[in-house]
Amino acid sequence: MVSKPGPDRVILAVAVPSPLKRVFDYLPGRDAPEEGWVAGVRVRVPFGRRSVIGVVIEVRSHSDVPLDRLRDIEALIDRSPLPADWLWLCRFAARYYQHSLGETINGAMPALLRQGRPLAARSQARWFLTESGRTPGDALTRAPRQAELLAAIAQHPRGLVAPAISALGFNRTQLNALRDKGLIDCREESVAAPASDRTPGTLAEPTLPLNREQSGVLAELHQDLDRFRVSLLHGVTGSGKTEVYLQLIEAVLDRGRQALVLVPEIGLTPQTLSRFRKRFNAPVIALHSGLNDNERLDSWEAARSGRAAVLIGTRSAVFTPLAAPGVIIVDEEHDGSFKQQDSLRYHARDLAIVRAQHDGVPIVLGSATPSLESLARARDGHYRHLRLNTRAGNAAPAALSMVDLRGKPQRGGLGPQALTAIREHLEAGRQVLVFVNRRGFAPTLTCHQCGWLAECPQCDARMTLHRDPHRLICHHCEQQRGVPDACPKCGSADLRPQGAGTERAEEALQEAFSDTRILRIDRDSTRRRDAMEQTLAEIRQGNSCLLVGTQMLAKGHHFPHVTLVVVVNADGGLYSADFRALEHSAQLLTQVAGRAGRAQHPGRVLIQTLHPEDPSLRLLVEEGYDALAEELLTERRLAGLPPFRFMALMRGESARMEAVIELFTRAGDAMRAWLNERGLAVHCLGPVPAPMERRQNRYHAQLLLSADRRSALHEASAWLDEWMMQQADARRLRYSIDIDPQEMY
Ligand code: ADP
Ligand code: ZN
Ligand code: ZN
Repeated sequence: MVSKPGPDRVILAVAVPSPLKRVFDYLPGRDAPEEGWVAGVRVRVPFGRRSVIGVVIEVRSHSDVPLDRLRDIEALIDRSPLPADWLWLCRFAARYYQHSLGETINGAMPALLRQGRPLAARSQARWFLTESGRTPGDALTRAPRQAELLAAIAQHPRGLVAPAISALGFNRTQLNALRDKGLIDCREESVAAPASDRTPGTLAEPTLPLNREQSGVLAELHQDLDRFRVSLLHGVTGSGKTEVYLQLIEAVLDRGRQALVLVPEIGLTPQTLSRFRKRFNAPVIALHSGLNDNERLDSWEAARSGRAAVLIGTRSAVFTPLAAPGVIIVDEEHDGSFKQQDSLRYHARDLAIVRAQHDGVPIVLGSATPSLESLARARDGHYRHLRLNTRAGNAAPAALSMVDLRGKPQRGGLGPQALTAIREHLEAGRQVLVFVNRRGFAPTLTCHQCGWLAECPQCDARMTLHRDPHRLICHHCEQQRGVPDACPKCGSADLRPQGAGTERAEEALQEAFSDTRILRIDRDSTRRRDAMEQTLAEIRQGNSCLLVGTQMLAKGHHFPHVTLVVVVNADGGLYSADFRALEHSAQLLTQVAGRAGRAQHPGRVLIQTLHPEDPSLRLLVEEGYDALAEELLTERRLAGLPPFRFMALMRGESARMEAVIELFTRAGDAMRAWLNERGLAVHCLGPVPAPMERRQNRYHAQLLLSADRRSALHEASAWLDEWMMQQADARRLRYSIDIDPQEMY
């Protein structure tokens, strides 16, 4: 018997799934890994009255808790640790976003691993007979099971792998006994082929010959395949960014490395996937919400073992372990879906950058409308700024024009000029896309006698009128009610829908163009599985039709037959309380406009507005996103807003507004006093009620921290978090701290 190290000297610090932001010390139980304890193995431990699965974070020689109060680990789950770079990223994310490490790890693991499913070992033992094992004599007469096991192994000249042996009903003790008697031995062999063993010839189809701009960009990217560098690939829609990614990935695969590609939630379409799958003669794996638990674990395994060459996924794919990382690509890096809005509030783009740095690999951020964060980093030289200014395949850029809607008659939100243009394009046999920023029939219902508005009883918001089903629905809390026949306030029957949603635009267009096929695409029309795919397939056939939809139509799709895009209302982001609203709305408008005229026919974009004099809107329409972005960066610098300052936002909610405000006022006062004492350059603003104070009958307020330096901000928010944890009344309401918040509600 091998004697194990004295159990009293090994203390295991374990991260368990609990909101508490600390690790817990345990003593090893009877189950110890053969090679001794290491960080990264999963263990089952008693926690309170439950038994939970945690991960060993550190092996220590002492504990601050007296030894006799420490509990034993119940079981060891992994023989070899979970991937070290993955664990590193979890630890970084937990620290940076001030979240519990145990919960971070839990969320970053496939469900089956979280439940304790063993991880297929990267290598497995193969057992074979030794010289003496071939002639055991009477060594096993008193151990019949061992004799049976020996006989089973003897039947296999190449030996038997451990999983096969346990499948036959034998256990580890019997194996060890035979080995201790010198009758059998084992060697480790690899389960999965390493990345470099893949079949030579990475390409399944020839690459497109690149245009001059693309070649220039690719040549630059090729220079830094072996080190960390952030490149911002800033290319107009249709400029061939994806083709550049594909050819960059080709170089990475040729070196036996893997590529991780992050795309927005809406961008992981079967089209995108098939473009990657068609190109490479190597496994391309998609990580998306449609995977079941087994598939998810398989994908994780394929990535970890190096079996998968290219991993494509949305936000959470940033946590995919890689055996041989070679490049990370973040497509549409400005997209809001990269930020998680609850639990661990991480930004996948930002974590991807940190991860690339840790792994020493290049990272490419691609967008036609880069975030102001990334643009600022490119302008100050931290990121390499690569541009693609022309559309690939010679499509002309779409011409944008603004349409003044003031005083004009409207049908379903569309003015006469838009209707005439739509008619022309339909008569020419083309497709037309009508972009409406609201689903449903109308943003609200109003009484023409007394001005009553259909408001949500639970939120500070209006209810949206829907036609199918005919109901008033609150888009913030999903609360529904019947549509009244008369005004609840004055009894008048003169109730009218106000404004236009997708259903109303569709109805008006159907009346105006009764022979035209109209396809509506929004969350309501695509609830059925495959509905979206079927509609997209119909659009691709190219027959003349009208597409009416929300931002689901704006991103990631390529509609070669669309020659006219109409934006029903461009004013959404103009007068919002959120300082990022204008940036986001300019990105969206540019993305929508980019759908027009991607093939041989030139495109036109009509932007309807009630504010044709607005300087930001004019700049966007006349000079484009880049010019507006420059302007916005200057404003942000002057106003001391991100990306020139860093922010942390503490949000709180309660059934009583006074409860949040009272606690947050104390928090703000305590914070400011502490900042003063420490001489830390952090500004603490608030508390203030959230822009939408009441949601689902709960009241929201916030406290904002901002600083020039990230480290100061972190020190302050960590202190605030700690302070909150000590307040008894903080436990009675929900609150969270969001580092680098993207939305200010
Ligand atoms: P982006 O990702 O910038 O929107 P894509 O890579 O999707 O652009 O390219 C837009 C269209 O142009 C696609 O149909 C693509 O096949 C085509 N394309 C890209 N690069 C080239 C090229 N070098 N030659 C011809 N067509 C190209
Ligand atoms: Zn009324
Ligand atoms: Zn509501």
